[in-house]
Amino acid sequence: MTDTPKSHGRLSIAASLIPRDLMGPTPQLQGAWQARIITLFPDAFPGVLGESLTGKALQEGLWGLEAIDLRQFGEGKHRNVDDTPTGGGAGMVLRPDVVAKALTEASRGTPQDRSRWPLIYLSPRGKPFDQATARRWSTTQGITLLCGRFEGVDQRVLDAFDIEEVSLGDFVLTGGEIAAQAMLDATVRLLPGVLGNQASTEEESFSEGLLEHPQYTRPAEWQGRPVPDVLLSGHHGKIAAWRQAQSEALTQARRPDLWAAHQARLADKR
Ligand code: SAH
Repeated sequence: MTDTPKSHGRLSIAASLIPRDLMGPTPQLQGAWQARIITLFPDAFPGVLGESLTGKALQEGLWGLEAIDLRQFGEGKHRNVDDTPTGGGAGMVLRPDVVAKALTEASRGTPQDRSRWPLIYLSPRGKPFDQATARRWSTTQGITLLCGRFEGVDQRVLDAFDIEEVSLGDFVLTGGEIAAQAMLDATVRLLPGVLGNQASTEEESFSEGLLEHPQYTRPAEWQGRPVPDVLLSGHHGKIAAWRQAQSEALTQARRPDLWAAHQARLADKR
């Protein structure tokens, strides 16, 4: 370790990746969905989001990503961002004053209305992330995600900024970065134009509250295992009915919670 601060300042991924001819202020790019991520590890972005369809969409300016380095708001020569937990205990806690400066920087130019620009702290204590959350986020103008590290963030800054806590699941990660990338992936793929085939997001798991049916491709027979006959029949009605039945059976067997919610929705409609 050296004393040189490893600060990169603001790392705006979109700007450097957009080819010259796409950098003009086209209406599409101006209104493009934006993610701002506050993190001690800005180099971790775009990470896997820079690959495949999300990466192509990022390069094309269909969405933008700005990683804001928390370290640059740190205190003193060493740009300290954390301190020991008040009251004792293991680990370190991110300081409220340092986090507040980063949140203020991240809020510049964003709408006050949180339904148009959610402010999220990735946290195992948060509301579990799900497909409905991804859908809601994909209809906003953008989002700010705060990635914690160590034991987490001082509660006072979470209260002061009225931050919503969202969890990737019932397990503990070492930091919020992987959770942020997972949630961004689920959200960005729902933005118009990101997936080649828009219909595929309507048919897949969770869109009707059910798990997806099994998928098959060629060869028609592999290691003595044929694909189900009905899929080769060319009869679209029968194929749709088979897939629906498979979805229902899988959901019932694997996810009684989703199945119960699905049944309740059907009952409501009747
Ligand atoms: N002491 C905390 C865990 C801290 S883990 C507790 O028990 O609740 C360090 C950081 O990783 C957190 O601040 C959070 O930003 C991130 N993190 C860990 N697990 C996560 C999860 N399941 N979902 C989202 N973020 C998580």
